[in-house]
Amino acid sequence: MPDAVPTVPSPTPAATAPGRLLQVRRVYAEPAALTSTRGREVLARFPAAEVVEVDSHWRIPELHGNEGNVERWVRVKTETLVLGVKKSLTARPNGRSADWIAPSTANGCAMACAYCYVPRQKGYANPITVFTNIEQITGYLRRHVARQGVKAEPDQCDPVSWVYDIGENSDCSVDALVSDNVADLVATFRELPTAKASFATKYVNRQLLDLDPRGRTRVRFSVMPDADARVVDVRTSRVAERVAAVDDFVAAGYEVHLNLSPVILRDGWEADWAALLRQLDDVLGPAAKAQAAAEVIMLTHNRDLHAVNLGWHPRAEELLWRPELQQPKRSQNGQWNVRYRNDVKRAGVERLRALVAAHAPWLRIRYAF
Ligand code: SF4
Repeated sequence: MPDAVPTVPSPTPAATAPGRLLQVRRVYAEPAALTSTRGREVLARFPAAEVVEVDSHWRIPELHGNEGNVERWVRVKTETLVLGVKKSLTARPNGRSADWIAPSTANGCAMACAYCYVPRQKGYANPITVFTNIEQITGYLRRHVARQGVKAEPDQCDPVSWVYDIGENSDCSVDALVSDNVADLVATFRELPTAKASFATKYVNRQLLDLDPRGRTRVRFSVMPDADARVVDVRTSRVAERVAAVDDFVAAGYEVHLNLSPVILRDGWEADWAALLRQLDDVLGPAAKAQAAAEVIMLTHNRDLHAVNLGWHPRAEELLWRPELQQPKRSQNGQWNVRYRNDVKRAGVERLRALVAAHAPWLRIRYAF
């Protein structure tokens, strides 16, 4: 249980500068990852880090047990990396945001959103694990794309391309601070005219602007009203910075979509979302608007996460935990998730659609969930 209630790290721009987000002092590494080319490249970026060999990147007991102590687990996120080899390579069908979920090239995250659903397999801190067998992963993806042939019919993921989510278990913008895996994925999809990579992000990494994606990578900047993000998006780039980056990423050759997510229902949410949509309308240029589309994702929370968050960030729980509006649902992995009740959710989605139509009519909603 929590042994301290420290202050929440402020998500100021300075706090999200690469040097603040990651100051790697220890790298846990599987032997095969350590001797791989990618593994050696990662270590070269952090030459002062101590290397600790581990049999399996899944079994690192030292990383567990920081629940409720935000200072300790943020320190683990900042100071620790894990290098491993991705064993099972499969692309899972999705059909909602992407046609396929690509095999991960990383898991874990250096940021700390209070609602994060990325599974915490390496303790609550869940620092970044880099998978070093990137050539196997990109080879697998090329073959998988080839097997699909040309997409026969438009779907909600994309009218013509097969879309592969490359960031299900991490934030690719931050992963790119650690290794060239994201650069290699962007380069792979650049050569695949029938497919597209896609990832959601809450971090603005301007190094990605140099990767020449030629339209084959979709970046989905997640946005929410700043008043919510200041409470629940911990260590991320500020929302205004994400919005300000959209035109630059479009100019650099990315397709840029927006994730309106998570939508958190609270007093005043409609006015704040309307203001955010007007901000998008003011800031984005014609090229960005012409290609924009959005996913609307209503908040999903989790009972265990609620209990942990109460220990370090009760203010977030005032926003996230609303039992009078929510219903529990057992997830596939046996966890109790909580979602807005069907009627509440339906009304929220309809209201948000109306706000988009009123304030950002150029923003096509690809799907709402
Ligand atoms: S940026 Fe994404 S992966 Fe990282 S903590 Fe936030 S929700 Fe989780």
